Amino acid sequence: MATTIDPSTHVGDGNGKQDGKHDDDTKKKSSRKHAVPELLFGDLWEFDPAPETASPNIKPRYDLFIGGQFVAPQSGQYFDSINPATEEVVSQIALASPGDVDAAYYAAQMAYETVWRDMPGRERGKYVYRIARLLQDRAREFAVAETIDGGKPIKESRDFDVPMAAAHFFYHAGWADKLAYIAPGRRVEPIGVVGQVIPWNFPLLMLAWKIAPAIAAGNCVVLKPAETTSVTAMKFAELLQDAGLPDGVVNIVTGAGETGAAVVNHPAAKKIAFTGSTEVGKIIMRSLAERGTRMTMELGGKAANVVFEDAPIDQAVEGVINGIFFNQGHVCCAGSRLLVQESIADMFVRKLRQRMAVLRVGDPLDKNTDVGAINSREQLDRICDLVESGISEGAEMFQPSCALPPRGYFYRPTIFTGVTQSHRIAREEIFGPVLSILTFRTMDEAVERANNTMYGLSAGVWTDKGSRILRMATDLKAGVVWANTFNKFDPTSPFGGYKESGFGREGGRQGLLDYVELA
Ligand code: NDP
Repeated sequence: MATTIDPSTHVGDGNGKQDGKHDDDTKKKSSRKHAVPELLFGDLWEFDPAPETASPNIKPRYDLFIGGQFVAPQSGQYFDSINPATEEVVSQIALASPGDVDAAYYAAQMAYETVWRDMPGRERGKYVYRIARLLQDRAREFAVAETIDGGKPIKESRDFDVPMAAAHFFYHAGWADKLAYIAPGRRVEPIGVVGQVIPWNFPLLMLAWKIAPAIAAGNCVVLKPAETTSVTAMKFAELLQDAGLPDGVVNIVTGAGETGAAVVNHPAAKKIAFTGSTEVGKIIMRSLAERGTRMTMELGGKAANVVFEDAPIDQAVEGVINGIFFNQGHVCCAGSRLLVQESIADMFVRKLRQRMAVLRVGDPLDKNTDVGAINSREQLDRICDLVESGISEGAEMFQPSCALPPRGYFYRPTIFTGVTQSHRIAREEIFGPVLSILTFRTMDEAVERANNTMYGLSAGVWTDKGSRILRMATDLKAGVVWANTFNKFDPTSPFGGYKESGFGREGGRQGLLDYVELA
């Protein structure tokens, strides 16, 4: 049964202070503009729960993975990993001390010198390929574990995180015996032992981005996952045992920032690959500069999604929604600033609000959920703080009226209009489901506003004109510029930033070049 309703009376409760007024305006306008009522299905009926039921096979406790074995931490200490949707303990994770990190580097160095460095590429490639196949085989189990540990919707971990992680291993397996072709005429050699530190927003995928190119190129690895999301990294360690990967090629040490500092500052590390905040990235850069260790930095972002008046509007609305609400906005390249051409701004914002009203926020394990749980209490507090700043600095907030689960860390999808460049919500990375909307009149103004940020990781352009896309792609200072789409990834395509979003690339031939020495 489809029912027609007036969207202006249906959309959201308007938690923002402007909403009463806006709704009145919208009602007046909609009675003029919408002679034909729009179809909005929204909350006209309830969805039955559709929980994913596969077993995640999560152990109650995980030790460190060093030299191919699970070993207890020297300190004997463990910390809890929390399910952010229920606030229940998922598992206990070992706390690695500098002594454990030392043991991990020793194991990696041994594996590098005795097995991995001199193994022919075609043999190394078989191991990488086997890892990819095993990840595919256990995709459902990994997806459920990722969702339970991190809070992201199961449809994202099932359809994006895990398949994309496997794709990175498949892609790099293919490179292992073809490394000579990444730099014709040069001798290509591995670097040695690489230290890698990753964040909590795409735990398994970031692990794959780091480990796959490193080991395909003949390096050995010491990796530290984020404190709040170590479970899939430890499940991956079990998978490495099943794949028969030689002991010590990959070592995983868990812990918080201090463990990360021990990993990046270890003298055996020939290269550090870091993904995380710009703030921590700067600390690491300062300490590594003294030693001249090679490094790649994948840091924060504040991407502009630029919508011109000739854009395919409905696709652009979907792209903007996906750009900011995918993974609760915990995405370094999230389109967290919408720049919309002034002539279509009112209409575009109205359509955004309608679309937001039918986003389903809630149980991440439910296959119908669009927006899951915020990863941690700390991150939820940070989002609340920045949203408060937006309100107090005079921007106008809108949130739909969706009910939030009684427990867990949840936040409503949020947009701000009336944002200016000086607002904190326009400058700082919120890393949550919060979109700041600004307008522009000309293309030059769009470029100037989009580039007016310390970051330069990604951007989106929505327009019907090919020439405009080419000009914007040239002028936008961002490592990735998507045209009439957003958040598209592929292992063959290099990803990385400009300015304070970091340097170095991951993926593609360029990403591999960051894991080899050219002689
Ligand atoms: P953080 O920088 O806080 O942490 C990243 C990793 O570094 C974590 O494993 C963390 O450990 C560890 N760490 C913390 N302090 C130190 C230190 N002094 N030395 C070494 N390691 C340390 O970032 P978040 O985890 O909060 O992740 C969010 C950030 O990551 C966002 O800014 C986002 O933009 C960025 N990011 C960038 C991506 C990119 O490709 N450019 C992709 C994904 C995220 P612990 O968690 O245990 O504290």
